[in-house]
Amino acid sequence: MPEFSCPPGLVCRPTFWNIPEWLQIAVYLAGFIAIIVMFYGFWLRFQQLRKGKGKFDWRPLGPRLKMWLTMGVATKKVSLENQPAGSMHVGIMWGMILLFIGTALATIDWDITRPLIDPNQWRLLQGGFYFLYKIILDLFGLAALVGLIIAFVIRYGVKPERLDGRSGKRFFREDLWIIGSMAFIVLTGFIIEILRLAAQPTETAQLGERVMYCTTCSVIAWPVSRLFASLDLGLLELLHRSIWVFHAAVAVVFVGSVSFTKMSHFAISSVNTFFKKREPAGAIAKIQDIENQESFGISKLEEFTWKQLLDFDACTRCGRCQDACPAALTGKALSPKNIIVKMFELSHAKTPGAIHGEIIDAQELWDCTTCMGCVNACPVSIDQLGTIIDLRRYLTLSEGAPQPPSNKTMDSMERQGNPYGLPKQDRHKWMQGLDVPFADADTEYDVLFWVGCAGAYDIRAQKISKAFVKIMQMAGLKFAVMQEERCNCESARRLGNEYLYQMATTENVETMKQYKFKRIVTTCPHCFNTIKNEYPQFDGKFEVIHHTQLIAELIDNGKIKPSKSLQQTITYHDSCYLGRYNNIFEPQRTVLKSISGVNLVEMTRSRSTGLCCGGGGGRMWLEENTGTRINNKRVEDVIAVNAQTVASACPFCMTMLDDGAKALSVDEKIARKDIAELVAEAL
Ligand code: SF4
Ligand code: SF4
Repeated sequence: MPEFSCPPGLVCRPTFWNIPEWLQIAVYLAGFIAIIVMFYGFWLRFQQLRKGKGKFDWRPLGPRLKMWLTMGVATKKVSLENQPAGSMHVGIMWGMILLFIGTALATIDWDITRPLIDPNQWRLLQGGFYFLYKIILDLFGLAALVGLIIAFVIRYGVKPERLDGRSGKRFFREDLWIIGSMAFIVLTGFIIEILRLAAQPTETAQLGERVMYCTTCSVIAWPVSRLFASLDLGLLELLHRSIWVFHAAVAVVFVGSVSFTKMSHFAISSVNTFFKKREPAGAIAKIQDIENQESFGISKLEEFTWKQLLDFDACTRCGRCQDACPAALTGKALSPKNIIVKMFELSHAKTPGAIHGEIIDAQELWDCTTCMGCVNACPVSIDQLGTIIDLRRYLTLSEGAPQPPSNKTMDSMERQGNPYGLPKQDRHKWMQGLDVPFADADTEYDVLFWVGCAGAYDIRAQKISKAFVKIMQMAGLKFAVMQEERCNCESARRLGNEYLYQMATTENVETMKQYKFKRIVTTCPHCFNTIKNEYPQFDGKFEVIHHTQLIAELIDNGKIKPSKSLQQTITYHDSCYLGRYNNIFEPQRTVLKSISGVNLVEMTRSRSTGLCCGGGGGRMWLEENTGTRINNKRVEDVIAVNAQTVASACPFCMTMLDDGAKALSVDEKIARKDIAELVAEAL
């Protein structure tokens, strides 16, 4: 038995009971070496990041720290979403953290305060603090163990598609080591405690005597230890010491392995949340000085920024992005998780291979609808979409190989100023008989109505433009349309054609600056996003609102009253470019609820987890031949809630929902209406 005593009247903690001093020294030495190995691994990773392009930017420190505290430390997204995996992570993470703190306190107590302060006077782990320490450690140890069991069941029993389905079994052994070693450490920790308690008479655990243990404070281990109390003391000591050796050995190897395995995520993923993109979520990075660039986008490892390399290292392979991805959900080649995982492997390969064609197939990139479901779902702030766009840029601009038929569409955008390939002079035909003025440089307007190519050329979307014009006229707004309006080419940008986008944007910004208006309003979320978030990159700073926001305002201030009863059950389909891109979820719902007779029902996938219609990122202009069509899947969501009408707020969504309804033969049963059309009907 160890020879030490506690201050009179206090209970305090025995450390290294039954462990000879030479073994204690050996474990400390091994632990020290393991910590050095762990830091060496992190240093190697830091060296890797330094090869990336761009400079580190810590600013603004306050918001970054806030992001880090909520996402990186409190792990808000991991904990609250995606159950039971979220609870599993909470159990393991906080269990292991508390056990680590407990071990550190024990070390301080035994190796630092004990030699310095007379243990008869004071011990760190004594009395009430010690009681609390024991109770907390036992409970959090149990939480960690339960979490690890759940992790094991999910990973090796349930085997959800998001974990191994696409990336194969190549992380099987690494994950097994992580879960298995942690479970072994926690379990043997409990067994050691149980054997020690079984060897210790319970009557020594009384406050007020000079006792060494608080047996009953070990709320989990103590009751179990009673089962072994009758065993021979020598056997208990032998078992205890033997298991302790294995426990310590695995713990030491585990610490040394941390920075070389996915366990490094506790540090790297946390740091990644601190460096989360600060620019608006919906803004794609501009290629600076595009005229003088020799190559575009990314085709080699050395072309990634340090933040992208950090993203790859930060990925925990949880697969939440894959579960949120409409392409992956409908059986396409793309999995955002796979893209990031493959880039992680590339960044650590001894001889990095070619990205395009060898590691990533072009189809994976073209499958992306740029819906931002992956970015929104990622608990560690990885920008999968930014990487996909960079890879697309190389294909489109450097290789000159955009996916057909988007090359024809982009040609039309450039020549005719619209993606439909229709004559320039037909752009304003939809306005005939509507009394819509063209903007005049000497007049100031309440709003400049940016119609967009769909609103101007697409016969279905023209009805939305007309309904919205009716609303603005009834509200008495002074508005105008810009005669020089041309396609803003945002889908070309997302298809990788930054060159065309920059040309169109420069032209549009110059034209818009000629006119006087308080705000720009548009019925197209894609136009809205690019004018709001991307035009500032080209010195075009305008106040932009979406037409549903303006309608909500007009209803709120009493300018219009949608008082005719529609008597319909309506569900609202969130546009990705309004919702996830710009966090605009409520005005559309407020407007619908304000219409008399509307029963608004929500689809299971709505707001930030709403399913894409399949038309973003230039996918409107591409074929969709693999797997289920995304728009059909979305219409299935509409059918599931028995809605009579699906309301949308985007002309692309309208086209996709229309096509989906026809494909699923619910064309007659489920109406597709823009919110402006519903409001105009109710006026
Ligand atoms: S942006 Fe959408 S479609 Fe593209 S990878 Fe992410 S989730 Fe998938
Ligand atoms: S990118 Fe993010 S969401 Fe996707 S697997 Fe990695 S950590 Fe999970």
